[in-house]
Amino acid sequence: MSVQSILLLGNPVLRTRCAKVRDFGGAGLRALVDDLRDTLADFRARKGFGRGIAAPQIGDPRRVIVLQVEGPQALVNPTITRQSRTMMTLWDDCFSFPDIAVKVKRHLSIEVQYQDLEGKRQVVKARGALAELLQHEIDHCNGVLAVDRAIDSRHIVYASELEKLKSLHVRKEM
Ligand SMILES: [Zn+2]
Repeated sequence: MSVQSILLLGNPVLRTRCAKVRDFGGAGLRALVDDLRDTLADFRARKGFGRGIAAPQIGDPRRVIVLQVEGPQALVNPTITRQSRTMMTLWDDCFSFPDIAVKVKRHLSIEVQYQDLEGKRQVVKARGALAELLQHEIDHCNGVLAVDRAIDSRHIVYASELEKLKSLHVRKEM
């Protein structure tokens, strides 16, 4: 139970296709979830943003994500089982490249199956903000990063530059 350091873009663990969790009884899974919670809370306190984190981001290549939102808080072995054809476009960010903003396309609504900490199967239907967060974190479990989803290379920018543009009201240009 402690704050872990977050791996940054370039670290090969972020590119790992993570392993399915099969052991739900042991202390290992609980300890991982506690570490993810603590690390997420610490990041939010320091940087002022962040709603989710995936296990590979703290160097543990297992399919586990932790969210701090309304809804499920810890999802083990999450899989997208349905996705809308309708897409949304948004500026995404990531703890593993916190100074960068990436414009991506995500499905507007999805259905995700996962297991809770007891191993019980659960389903969550998500739309909008929760849907894009889940897609981002589930991508991490597959070694896929937001930069891979950029709509094109012009839409990978410094977050501080994006903020300047927003304040100039020329955001639609992006
Ligand atoms: Zn991320």
